[in-house]
This record gives sequence, structure tokens and C-alpha cells, in this order.
Amino acid sequence: RQPEYLRKLDKEHYFHPTTPLKLHQENGPGLIIKEGKGIHVTDVYDDVYIDGVSSLWNVNIGYGRQEMAEAAKQQMMRLSYGSSFFNNSNDQVIQLSEKLAELTPGNLDVSFFTSGGSESNESAFKIVRHYWKLKGRPERTKIIALDLSYHGVTMGATSATGVREFDHMITSSAPGFLHAKPYLTDCEKGDKSQPDYESSIRGIVEKEGPETVAAVILEPIQGVGGINIPPEGYLKAVRELCDEYGIYMIADEVICGFGRTGEMFGVDNWEVVPDLMSVAKGITSGYMQLGAVLLKSELRDELAEMSDDVFFHGFTYSGHPTACAVGLKNLEIIENEKLVQNSKHMGDELLKGLAYLEEQHQVTAKSRTAGLLGAIELYADRDSGKAFDPSLHAAQQVVEECLSRNLLLRPLSFGGMNAVALAPPLIVNKGDIETMIDRLSGAIKAFENKVLK
Ligand code: PLP
Repeated sequence: RQPEYLRKLDKEHYFHPTTPLKLHQENGPGLIIKEGKGIHVTDVYDDVYIDGVSSLWNVNIGYGRQEMAEAAKQQMMRLSYGSSFFNNSNDQVIQLSEKLAELTPGNLDVSFFTSGGSESNESAFKIVRHYWKLKGRPERTKIIALDLSYHGVTMGATSATGVREFDHMITSSAPGFLHAKPYLTDCEKGDKSQPDYESSIRGIVEKEGPETVAAVILEPIQGVGGINIPPEGYLKAVRELCDEYGIYMIADEVICGFGRTGEMFGVDNWEVVPDLMSVAKGITSGYMQLGAVLLKSELRDELAEMSDDVFFHGFTYSGHPTACAVGLKNLEIIENEKLVQNSKHMGDELLKGLAYLEEQHQVTAKSRTAGLLGAIELYADRDSGKAFDPSLHAAQQVVEECLSRNLLLRPLSFGGMNAVALAPPLIVNKGDIETMIDRLSGAIKAFENKVLK
């Protein structure tokens, strides 16, 4: 099919996820890709791009791996699908559960499988609420999340999401979700003299009553909300707060998990062990749809002890053998090629590159990385912190300039921020990072030429 004909068909028949619908209606799709190899994707016009954000920060091992295709093919020929309902199992899901237990910190030794991040968070909420109900504490339902968090799009996950822009989809959110200001470390440690105390997780727990709070959920590093890295001591303070009140701590590792931040999991950066972890994306590097909730074995065992009833929660594709076989191969590649370590080292290179951009371009500031999860911000006046007029869509403009230089990046413009996110596949080398920085520099220069007089 000719590219223009594909564009026409897309316009006519494809309802895109998370897309400005009017723009699509008017212009059709932006990029139509057809191939991927390593860190590159090729579009239908045969233009080759560096994918500097691993698509949706998920293609950790890069594109076009023969061994991944082979793992899927072999598994499909052996057993394409098998349900795990009604106490059945399959050999692949068992092996993946074992592998995850080996990789996770602390005693997060059991896995419940889903098809993605939203389903994982949704499942985590149901598991903790179910627990408190069985425990004879049905009023313990509240879930506290952070402002600027992103947890997905199903009803619970979207209600937990703290990026306000996602609210316009729903007239009323699911009950029991509350939002705290992120990163008030001293407040979480109990310093009531802090001005924002009431907006902290601790402040909310105390106001609502700890006996009504089921869990706290947070991303170890916020992704969609701006690549926000918590200050030292924050995650530990939240862990201690949760311990103090017997509240479950859920880490949303959907972006951070599997090497993205230079450690196997985001929480490993601070040696904090949550009670539950939601994972997806990097678990298969996007080669198949898979997610999981990883939880303390005691939690599942207690659920079993407290009730003879069926645990009435599961997805048709929970424990899909082909997705699990692909997940196992992906984890083998991450380990064999030492991609977690590479993420850390290349993350340092990326940070150097972003520091160079700050020297070169007066509109840039506040660059940061954790492994290969990074961002650089744009300001009209970086010294005073004056933001660009939102109608300028500064980050969007820079990303479009990158696109015309064959580099795919992502604008993050929530909460008044104008940031450009960088999250290349974990296989990048120093030369790739230099090329990315070079192209981004050209894009920022073009933007500066337009907006600075
Ligand atoms: N949690 C986080 C931190 C995410 O970044 C995302 C997706 O970007 C999700 C949850 C939702 O995952 P999914 O899109 O697979 O449902």
C-alpha cells in the first residue's frame, strides 16, 4: 500500500489512543512506521529515525531481535495459549514467576499477571482492598497517590493518576482516590511545622484516619508527569510511614522496571522494598502485551488463609504462555547483555550530553537522568524560572524539530512544565548518545531562532 493511501485509510478507520482527535481528523497520522532494528525505526517513506524514547519507554532491548521472534514462534507452535483460571497453569508462566521472584528486591516473590500497566495497577488496588475486606476492615479502601503521577487509563488507574489533564475524560472518578503533593520528605517524616504538611501523604493519612487508608501508590520516578526524581530519603520516608500505619506501599514500576533507571527496578535506587509492584512495558520490551503485580508472598498466603472463596479477579490473558515465553527471553537478554549496567553508564553519558546542551542553549535548564530515563526543561528565562507562554507549546515545537532531524523524543508539558523526555533503548552506546544530543541541539537551536529575538 502506498504511504498516502495508508494515511487516508488511517484517517478513515483508525481511532487512535491518546491523540488530539481534531488534528488526526484534519491531517491524518504523523509518523507511520513499518520497521524497527536496534534503536532505529523506519517509516513508510523509508526515512530512518533514532527512537530516543523507546516508543512508549518500553522497547528496552531495542527492535527486531530474531531471538524474541523465535521464542514467540516456538511457543506458539508448542502451546499458543492456555488459561490459568480454575487453578490451571502452564510451564511458561511458572518459569517467568520464578524468574521475577529472583529479580525482585526483598520478598516480592509471587506474581499475578495482566496484559499491561493499567491492569496491573487496577489489580493491585483490588488485591489490597480485598485484603482489608477479608481482614474485617472493609472501610479501609482509600488509595493515596501523588500529584503528577500517571498510573494508566482504566477507571481505578485513571482515578489514581495525578496528572490533571487526564481528568477531562471522566465526569466522576472512582471513589476513594486521594492525591498528595510529591516529595515533601520532611512532612512524611512527621515534621508538622512544614508549610505543606496537610498536603503530604502523612497529612492526608492523619486527616482521613489511617484506618481508612488501604494503600499508597507511587512511581519511584515519575515518568509522564515530567521525569521527576524524588529527593534522597523520600521513598524511605514513605516506606516508614506505611509501616507505621500498616498501609500497603505499591510501587508503580511500569516505566522504571527492568533496567530503565540504571537498576533492575526503580526502588532499587534507594534500596526500598514496597509491598506490591506493578510492572509492564520493559517486561517484554514491547514484543508482547504483558504486565504483572509482584507482591509479598505473605500477602497472597494470607488471602488464601482468610477465605475459602474463589479469588474472583483474572484476565483471559493472565499468564498468557506466549507473552510469558517472550518475557523470559527478554529478561535473559537484559541479563546476558548487562543492559541494566549499560543503562547506568549510558545514563551518565546522557547527563553529560544534557549538561552540554545547557551550556549551549540559554532556553534549557534542570536536566536530569536516572539511568536512561532523562529530561531537559525549556524556559523563556531560565534564571528567573519564567516559563514559555503555554500557547507556544515549546516542548512540542522542539520535539517536532527533532522529528525533522530524524530523532524521536517526547514532550512532557504537564503541571506548567515544558520538558523534553529522553529514554532510548538500553542498548545505546556512546556514539548513539552523541548523535542524539547533536540532533537535539540542532532542534533547540532552530526553536531558539524562532522565539528569541
Ligand atoms: N503506570 C505508569 C507509570 C505508566 O507510565 C503507564 C503507561 O505509560 C501505565 C501505568 C499504564 O500502562 P499501560 O499503558 O500498559 O496500561
